[in-house]
Amino acid sequence: MYELWDEIDGEDPSPICPQCGVSALAPEVPGGESVCENGACGGYGEPI
Ligand SMILES: [Zn+2]
Repeated sequence: MYELWDEIDGEDPSPICPQCGVSALAPEVPGGESVCENGACGGYGEPI
């Protein structure tokens, strides 16, 4: 799956969930925390 991110450089604003490797949603508010959006992930809804 990681090859999917080869075109994304280090400037990607979206964080990657350390538990499932899925790109998380950007913070809803400036300075807010991103949360995992993968419902099958153990860290779903948790700040990354
Ligand atoms: Zn996750």
